[in-house]
Amino acid sequence: MWGAVEAGGTKFVCAVGTGPDRVEARTVIPTSDPDTTLSSVVEFLTRYPIRALGVATFGPVELREGHPNWGTITSTPKPGWKGVNLAGRLAESLGVPVGIDTDVNGAALGEWRWGAGRGMDPVVYVTVGTGVGGGAVIGGRPLHGLVHPEMGHVSVTRLPGDEFAGICPFHGDCLEGMVSGPALERRFGRPPSELGSETEAAVSLASTYLARGLRQVVYVLCPEKIVLGGGVSRLPGLVGSVGVKLLDELAGYGVTDQHRAEFVVPPALGDDSGILGGFVLAEAAAGR
Ligand code: ZN
Repeated sequence: MWGAVEAGGTKFVCAVGTGPDRVEARTVIPTSDPDTTLSSVVEFLTRYPIRALGVATFGPVELREGHPNWGTITSTPKPGWKGVNLAGRLAESLGVPVGIDTDVNGAALGEWRWGAGRGMDPVVYVTVGTGVGGGAVIGGRPLHGLVHPEMGHVSVTRLPGDEFAGICPFHGDCLEGMVSGPALERRFGRPPSELGSETEAAVSLASTYLARGLRQVVYVLCPEKIVLGGGVSRLPGLVGSVGVKLLDELAGYGVTDQHRAEFVVPPALGDDSGILGGFVLAEAAAGR
């Protein structure tokens, strides 16, 4: 049996099991300071005989194996979490091997193993919510190198007449700066889920920029499937619209039949892509 943790800014989801059909137990712990949060995580997981733990976490996180800070949250605005050695502390407390990756690489792993990306290689998972982030599984392995992918921070060509400055503190009008949940809220004056009659306009805008961002992902990583998740992706018609507009962006160059049919899809595992990806990370950690 594996343990899995999906570490987020508002909550830590914990589960034990082996896959989507065998989740023996799960719990949700609100994110507070590291000591309180991690001791609740450990308290839950020690009740079960887990062989290894997989952690899919918010970032940025150091993922270079052998690096002295491996498994450590490197820089984050979340109070108290900067410099926390998430993997090391959980490994020490639980006495089992720990695998760690980003939340979006975790979600990509879950969808690749059991969800919309089954049998596909590479698989890309992009979330559009509080931020925009992306992960990729290539040859069965989550992609990271010197750093981990930051697909939300690619630049996007502006729509004519769009004067919105963008809200990314680093780049202003990168993809995340233009169409994350908070960016849409700034543009429309209300959260994306409360837009009412303006929903269609928000979907049109967001899908155009997402297609422009994903064009770069398609040409660089050559995914066989793009899974689009996160709160904003649940706006009616958004995922389908991104798929159609992405084809426009590709303009017939390097396009296959696979790009034309169900290429951009919602997560098959719903909100569980990341936590289930934790099981895949645990399995890999046990085998090292
Ligand atoms: Zn940015």
